[in-house]
Amino acid sequence: MITISHLSKTYYDPDGTTFQVLKDVNCEIKPGEVICIIGPSGTGKSTFLRAINLLDPPTGGSIIVDGENILAKGYPVHKLRRKMGMVFQNFNLFDHMTVLENVMYAPCKILKEDIEKAREEGLALLRKVGMVEKADVYPSSLSGGQKQRVAIARALAMHPEAILFDEPTSALDPTMVGEVLSVIRQLAKEGMTMLIVTHEMKFARDVSTRIFFMYEGVIHEDGTPQQIFENPHRSATKAFVQRIRKQVFEVDGPDFDFLGMYTAINLFCIKYNISDKYKRAETLVKLMMDDIMAAYRPMTVRITQSELSSDTHLDFMVQGMENTPLNDAQRGQLAPLCQQIIEEPTTRGFRIKLLV
Ligand code: ADP
Repeated sequence: MITISHLSKTYYDPDGTTFQVLKDVNCEIKPGEVICIIGPSGTGKSTFLRAINLLDPPTGGSIIVDGENILAKGYPVHKLRRKMGMVFQNFNLFDHMTVLENVMYAPCKILKEDIEKAREEGLALLRKVGMVEKADVYPSSLSGGQKQRVAIARALAMHPEAILFDEPTSALDPTMVGEVLSVIRQLAKEGMTMLIVTHEMKFARDVSTRIFFMYEGVIHEDGTPQQIFENPHRSATKAFVQRIRKQVFEVDGPDFDFLGMYTAINLFCIKYNISDKYKRAETLVKLMMDDIMAAYRPMTVRITQSELSSDTHLDFMVQGMENTPLNDAQRGQLAPLCQQIIEEPTTRGFRIKLLV
């Protein structure tokens, strides 16, 4: 359905410097495919989506959609707008229109649909994304997650053959990510063709039929989610999918800023979308610091988040120690708060690792 060959995009600065964001992108997208585009920031993922939708036309190559080169001179852009919907990071709803008017606007204006038919369809789409109760309110009264669900209904109203999503959850409060992802999951089940730029690795792994790993302006690796996440062939892909987020605290003595550490752990949980684990993480660290390990200093405390497995670990490393400082009573205190307790000697000291 979409064949992309040798796509390139160069930005020209007024001072004469040039920057090639897309170098040579080649791929074929078939109907019903759900493709998540992942990769480090600044590698051209958004530029690629905007190029396919002609929001930011590429400087070279071809994009064939249903047999026509959409980059050819004179290709009617409105024709593409009917075939391809787009959902943006910042929703881009019309603030002066109600939710329902937002959804009805393009079908009435571009498809010249009858108003009553557009209203009926609009309400059905709002029902589908769980927003029908808000049909008559203005977007300003909605939460980010609700706005994004309306934006998805609006894209669906044009009966597109495919929908492009540009980081649909990255502007959302972590508590609202789930409601938007579940709408996208539902569309995937129904067979909608979708291209999704996302940083949600677990979602990418569950929902897609294929993954594009973009790196330095090309599709560096293209494979099934299982292959890309479990058996990446290229080293850059491997480094990306296996990366672990971490934050380290050196607890040196009685003047250590414990409050600062708890705040940093809270921010870490918010940043990596694991707010649900924050309370437990904080309780565990307090229990370890105030009771169980109070006698041991200096100590290194670390929180890590694996993108691939979604596991969150807290580890406590006591330098120079050879045996576990834990006794059975303390293990009993920790057990209800974590999924696993690992006690292991390392070259630097003894480590207690808790799976939150
Ligand atoms: P990603 O989505 O992978 O984070 P983007 O496609 O947003 O990457 O951007 C890739 C690179 O292109 C970035 O370095 C960005 O600064 C640059 N870029 C994006 N848009 C423009 C623009 N309009 N003018 C100049 N450079 C741009």
